[in-house]
Amino acid sequence: MIRRPASRSHESALFHADFVAAGRATKAQVTVIMALGLAAMWILRPILFNQPHPLIHDWAFASLWLVVPAAIRVVSCLPRTPPPWSTGLFIASVYLDVITFMVIRSLSEQGGYDEIPILIPIAYLASLLVVHIRFVVLVPAMLVGFATLAIIEAMTIPITSASVIDIGAAGAIFFVPLASSWLHERQTELGWVRERRLNTLSTTDELTRLPNRRAFDHELQRALTDGPLPVSLAILDVDRFKVLNDALGHAAGDRTLAAIGRSIADSVDGPSTFTARLSGEEFVVVWSGDGPEAARAQADRVRGDVASLQLPSGRFDTPVTASAGFASLGSPPEDPARAAAVLTATADAALYRAKHDGRNRLVAAATLIPDSDPTVDARLQRPVDEVSVEVEDPLGEHDRAFLADFDRSGLVARRVIMAGIALIVVAVAAVAPGLLALPDTTVTTSRVVYGFLMIPAAVVAIVAATWRRLRPWAAVIHVVCVAPVIAGQMWLRASDVPHAQEIVTFLMPVAVLLSLGVVQIRFRLMFPAMVVLYIGILVVECLAVPAYDGDYLAFSPMPS
Ligand code: GH3
Ligand code: MG
Ligand code: MG
Repeated sequence: MIRRPASRSHESALFHADFVAAGRATKAQVTVIMALGLAAMWILRPILFNQPHPLIHDWAFASLWLVVPAAIRVVSCLPRTPPPWSTGLFIASVYLDVITFMVIRSLSEQGGYDEIPILIPIAYLASLLVVHIRFVVLVPAMLVGFATLAIIEAMTIPITSASVIDIGAAGAIFFVPLASSWLHERQTELGWVRERRLNTLSTTDELTRLPNRRAFDHELQRALTDGPLPVSLAILDVDRFKVLNDALGHAAGDRTLAAIGRSIADSVDGPSTFTARLSGEEFVVVWSGDGPEAARAQADRVRGDVASLQLPSGRFDTPVTASAGFASLGSPPEDPARAAAVLTATADAALYRAKHDGRNRLVAAATLIPDSDPTVDARLQRPVDEVSVEVEDPLGEHDRAFLADFDRSGLVARRVIMAGIALIVVAVAAVAPGLLALPDTTVTTSRVVYGFLMIPAAVVAIVAATWRRLRPWAAVIHVVCVAPVIAGQMWLRASDVPHAQEIVTFLMPVAVLLSLGVVQIRFRLMFPAMVVLYIGILVVECLAVPAYDGDYLAFSPMPS
């Protein structure tokens, strides 16, 4: 088993299979949460729906349209369901739910009740964001779901400026988690690839490309723990390698080791064997599940194959040869770690005898040395264990490099979000007065808020994310600039809502606040900023924004 670096596309395919598989648990959690949510709605229906539409009491209707998608969702979580089916079924179940909720919503609204707030189908659709659907599938799936929702809303409920704003705000709040899910997939993939490469690197021997001692230790213990038994082991040691090095040079020695490694790996390449470079000029082969006799015969053939390579040994015209020690264990060990050490020590003792008996041969240990033998315990004391090696902790340096990378990677997202806010503000300022027949006071307030608060804040944040000199403070400046943007939105809300014009819905400042979560601002700054700003939004909402009947969060009957 010679290890070659995996190609990027192969790695990517492996990652995506892993990514979707890891989403099963999340799908199951979401399924349970949805079921609990429905159960809660059912139990609390006398409080939630004080003047319910008859449809909500139609149990047959509800069970058909809510149990069918729930059943499809359960199938999508099953371990046996292949990844593409798992994703497809989950999306289908969410679509069915969204359609059901939208139909109930339109029927009840037509009957004069605001029974299913649009947030419920939106929340169902948003569940697609968290269940590990690949971004290339997620974006069209969200768009189709959202378009379905918007079309049903537009076709069945009379269009008002408030409902257009509601749908617009709902679309806008999808942008934030969608961007976040893209970042999440990309970063998970990068982390996954790095970890895999690091893992391969730390378990591969550089010279021979074979698994190294660390990989061998792990594999032997795994074989002794999980089987299948018997487990046999051969240690192969190149004969008189020091002479070869002295006569032909160290570089020739290296080439010889690489050739021998390849030869051993090719000779025993199979699912039940494991080959590694143990150290220096020692190699090891592990058989798991093969009978001891068959394994022993193979070990001797592998050893003979080294001589057949006819590599120069530096001693007259004799080729390079190898000796081998062989040992086997047939019964399940009580302590796999100790059995691994005993098996290795026994094969090593057999190798010592092969050297002593004249080299270029294999010696098999007759039986395993019993567990209690004190000579084994003495031999198991590895001197390495007693040497304390001081390793400089590299984490500080890595941490700094990671954080610098992290800080840099958010700059583009910050520029895009702030440019988006500035553009929307300019577009609204230009179009809204003509479209919405707003009173003069509203237009004046909006212009003041846009011109003196929101646009300048967006521009400063864009400059901070662009100008090199400001880079060290870019994150702090961004957070400081988000505050006036949110303050401006809340100001407009507080001044518009009393006139029954909800131009800035509650979701809009929340969407801006949520954007802090996707622009790579360090947690220690992002978290307090979010908490403080959210408390600010709530305080303004409670103190300065009066409730009015058109608010879609209210369950009360709509104003006639
Ligand atoms: P024996 O037949 O008893 O095994 O004799 P030997 O010379 O093979 O054994 P010894 O342990 O005395 O010497 C092993 C030599 O292997 C010494 C060391 O310099 C050499 N060696 C270990 N690792 C490497 C390596 O990576 N490259 C090269 N070129 N030589 C190595
Ligand atoms: Mg040796
Ligand atoms: Mg040797």
